[in-house]
Formats: sequence, structure tokens, C-alpha cells
Amino acid sequence: MTGRLTNRTIIVTGGASGIGAALVRGFAAEGATAVIADLNLEGAQALADEIVATGGSASAVRVDVTDRASVAAGIATTVERHGRLDAYFNNAGMNAPMKYLDITEDNFELIMKVNTLGVLIGTQEAVRQFIAQGGGGKVVNTASIAGRQGFSSFAPYSAAKAAVISLTQSAARAFAEHGITVNGFAPGVVATPLWDKLDRDLEAIGEAHNNFASMSSGILLGRPADPEDIVPTGIFLAGSDSDYITGQIIPIEGGMILV
Ligand code: NAD
Repeated sequence: MTGRLTNRTIIVTGGASGIGAALVRGFAAEGATAVIADLNLEGAQALADEIVATGGSASAVRVDVTDRASVAAGIATTVERHGRLDAYFNNAGMNAPMKYLDITEDNFELIMKVNTLGVLIGTQEAVRQFIAQGGGGKVVNTASIAGRQGFSSFAPYSAAKAAVISLTQSAARAFAEHGITVNGFAPGVVATPLWDKLDRDLEAIGEAHNNFASMSSGILLGRPADPEDIVPTGIFLAGSDSDYITGQIIPIEGGMILV
């Protein structure tokens, strides 16, 4: 397949589900080789098989974004299979809501580990590969509007995503001299499997006022996002059209934060 991302190899963490899976399909449709890096190897492999069966280029690798050795191995495998790495999407994430006074050290650490430490490690290991290739390359981070305003039901998640915005800015400064750009996007409410568990958990702790239906009700454009709504921005940030942009977070939230 040829398109705006032809000859680019792009790793998407959390690529087996939701936003990540939509990005993977979109990248493959634009001619990229999409590498699906996920804890869920079975789901990642099934998506890679689907893309290859329809004439695209993709492969799967099991990666835990909180484990540096696993992340480095995922990048090494990608380079062995496909020759190089052009963009790295730090997209894996999770949430586990708690009322503010009930937040435990374990809850805080888990959420920061997956959503924030995972982005730090992924950025470091991708950048090492970009520099080894001679520079250039793109890191793209999935932040959230939750990183721009706090939420009573999931303060650690909001803090973790605020940290992702900050890490994006710091990495943009750190690696510009190598021609590497670091950007991100901040979705609002996206209809993905993440919400199935989140809604159940919110109900269980008496915080249903922050559930999918309620959060979707205040969106200016009148509906939550589908994962496919994220894809054009992902393609833009992965491709050469965004070459002169770095350190930026693009909101994709239908006007939610204005309401
Ligand atoms: P999802 O639950 O559908 O997919 C998340 C994927 O990440 C899963 O495939 C899961 O296996 C993988 N994953 C989780 N922990 C991992 C780890 N340690 N290592 C590797 N993979 C891991 O979720 P989604 O809604 O598609 O979310 C994707 C990203 O978008 C997350 O960073 C999330 O915080 C962010 N986000 C989502 C929304 C939304 O409304 N859905 C809004 C804003 C931001």
C-alpha cells in the first residue's frame, strides 16, 4: 500500500485495542508498517494478521511499557524485522478510579507507572534508536484532557496525564538537536473498551457522575469521539506534514474543555 506514511515503521504501544488499534489500521492504510506493541500479544497478533490479510504491513510484539527491558526488546525486534524505526507512539494507558480520600499508594504508583513512567521509558528507548540511525524520528504521546483539568474520581490518572504533557515538552527540548520531534494529542471522551471497566468501577465507588454517558453529555460537537476520530491527527503527527512542530499537544475533544 502507498500513502502518506509509505516506508515508515511505526510502533504503537497499546495498539491491540481502542485508540491504538484505530491508529494501527490508519497507519497501515497510509502505507506504513505498523508494529503493535501490547501486553495482549494475542490481540496484537490478531490485528497484525487482519492488516496483512488485507494487503497491509504489520507485526505484533509483546511489550510491557513499564519494563525497560521489554520496551528495548520490542524496539530491537522491530528493527530486526523491518529495518528501522521512524515513529514511536506512547499510547498504552489505563485508569483505576478512586475517591480522593481513598487513593492508596498502590493505586497512585500503578497509574503513574503505566501512564507516565511508561512514556518516559518508551521515549528514552525510541530516541536511543533514532540517534543510532543518525537522527530524525517522531515520538507521539497520548495525553488526555484529564491532564488539563483535575477529576475528583481519578486524580492519579489526571496527574499522570498532566505529567505526560510535561514530559512531551521536556523531551522536545532535549532531543531537537537530533532532529527528533516530540508531540502528543489529548483526547476527550473516546468510545473504547477502556470505558467498559471504568464505568463499572465508577459505579462501584459511587462516582457514576464521571461515567461515559455523563462525560459525553457536555461535548460541544454533541457526541463522544470514535477511535477513528483520532486517526487523522495521528497520521499528521507520524508523517512529514508535522516536521516543523514539536513540544505540542493537540486537543481532540469535540469542544469538551470549553464547556
Ligand atoms: P484501551 O483499554 O481500549 O486500550 C489500551 C491498550 O493498552 C490495551 O490493548 C492494553 O492491553 C494496553 N496496555 C495496558 N497496559 C499496558 C502495558 N503496561 N504495556 C503495554 N500495553 C498495555 O484504551 P484506549 O481508550 O484506547 O486508551 C488508549 C490511550 O488513550 C490511553 O493512554 C488512555 O489513557 C488514552 N485516553 C483515552 C481516552 C478515552 O476516552 N478512551 C481519553 C483520553 C485519553
